[in-house]
Amino acid sequence: MTELSILLHPDPRLKKISIQVTNIDERIKKLCLDMIDTMYNHSGVGLAAPQVGVLKRVVVMDCSDDGEKSPVTLINPEIVWSSEEVSKFEEGCLSIPHIREEIKRPSSVQVKFTDICGISKESYFKGLWATCIQHEIDHLNGKLFIDYLGPIKRSFITKKMKKYKKEIIKK
Ligand SMILES: [Zn+2]
Repeated sequence: MTELSILLHPDPRLKKISIQVTNIDERIKKLCLDMIDTMYNHSGVGLAAPQVGVLKRVVVMDCSDDGEKSPVTLINPEIVWSSEEVSKFEEGCLSIPHIREEIKRPSSVQVKFTDICGISKESYFKGLWATCIQHEIDHLNGKLFIDYLGPIKRSFITKKMKKYKKEIIKK
C-alpha cells in the first residue's frame, strides 16, 4: 500500500466540490486502501479523498475505540436524515494539524452510500461516528470544520497554518 500525502489548509483543492464516483474500478479500490493506511499512519479517525488531492466522493473512517481496527469505506455518501438533537465534540483534522475546536452537529445521522464492493447501503451513525461522517462529507463539499467558527478565530487558525506550512517546507 502507498502512503498518500495529505494536503494542508490553506489549499485551494480543499475548497473544491468533489465529484461522484460512477465506477468502482481497481483504481478506486486502491485509493480506498491507501487512504485507510494513510489515516492509520496519522492516527486519524477519518479521511476524505480531497485531503489527498483526489476530488472524488470517497471517505474512509474508523472511530472504534476497542483497539480493533474496523475501517469503513463510504463511496458517494449522502446524509438522508439527521437528528434534531445536537452534540458538541472537540474536532481535529489531518489537514489542520494541532488545532482542535468544539463543533456542534446533529447527534445522529442516517447515511446512504456505496461500499467498496459496489453494494448500496444505509447506515445509522451516532456519537463520534456521526460527527466524523458529517466532518468528512463536508470535505467532499469543500467545507472545513473551521468554517463553523467565527471569522476572527478562523483567520487566526489560517494564519497559524500558513506559518506552520512554511516551517515544515524549510525542514
Ligand atoms: Zn478533516
